[in-house]
Amino acid sequence: MISPAAKRWIAAAKVLGRDAQAIVRCPGNDDGVLQAHDEIYARDPTLIERYLVCSVCGARNVLRMKAPS
Ligand SMILES: [Zn+2]
Repeated sequence: MISPAAKRWIAAAKVLGRDAQAIVRCPGNDDGVLQAHDEIYARDPTLIERYLVCSVCGARNVLRMKAPS
């Protein structure tokens, strides 16, 4: 069973995985916009972790993806 909020997180991750500047509403509470920032994944520097954080309620998720070359 996937909750509606989980589905919204997946949709948000697809958009923000392509474009970190995209404007995506908070999947948890629809109360703000997700901010994305990238960090090198320490255990594998060919990967980055893209942190998605709601600026209002602090809901967050992390995508692990190939580092842009
Ligand atoms: Zn929020």
